[in-house]
Amino acid sequence: AKGWIEVFRDPALFEQAKADAKGLSRYGLQFEILECGQLQAREHQLDASVVGGIHWLDPKTVNNPGALTRGYATLFMQRGGQFLHGDARSLRQVDGQWQVDSRRGPITANEVVACLGPQSADLFSGLGYQIPLAIKRGYHMHYSTRDGAQLE
Ligand SMILES: Cc1cc2nc3c(=O)[nH]c(=O)nc-3n(C[C@H](O)[C@H](O)[C@H](O)COP(=O)(O)OP(=O)(O)OC[C@H]3O[C@@H](n4cnc5c(N)ncnc54)[C@H](O)[C@@H]3O)c2cc1C
Repeated sequence: AKGWIEVFRDPALFEQAKADAKGLSRYGLQFEILECGQLQAREHQLDASVVGGIHWLDPKTVNNPGALTRGYATLFMQRGGQFLHGDARSLRQVDGQWQVDSRRGPITANEVVACLGPQSADLFSGLGYQIPLAIKRGYHMHYSTRDGAQLE
């Protein structure tokens, strides 16, 4: 199925969520409001306690994010990119340019894109930039279904 469905058991929360979703219209998000019968028709093994849902149609899903990342890496190299390993925290300014150490020696460039994920602050703080970045820990859970029920 495309996107994901946000399902509600509480009528008041469902009404609020519908109003909130409509309030997002200026962002051009695509979604479909599924009243109870429509939801049950779409996902007929859902428990009878559900009162409705919102099908968010825009989000994309990737089953194998590692393969996607490797695909991008290959494309990058096909287009002339190179991968060199080094500690980005060695970045410094030398004669008006940026320089960073790599296993193959120093690399010098006019411009640098820093994309160290949540570790980016390690780099910025050493250079005197005060950018508030922190690592946030998140959790996700997998649930089993009752009596082997399956989603479409
Ligand atoms: C458990 C978990 C589950 C997630 N699930 C999802 C999901 O389902 N869907 C989704 O969209 N997002 C998910 N995310 C979020 C997603 O992984 C991140 O938003 C995304 O990876 C950020 O990409 P990035 O390139 O900015 O940083 P990163 O992917 O963190 O890449 C930063 C890179 O910098 C390198 N690096 C760090 N410090 C240095 C240094 N000093 N020198 C050289 N290299 C350095 C790191 O080794 C790393 O390779 C999940 C994250 C986690 C932790």
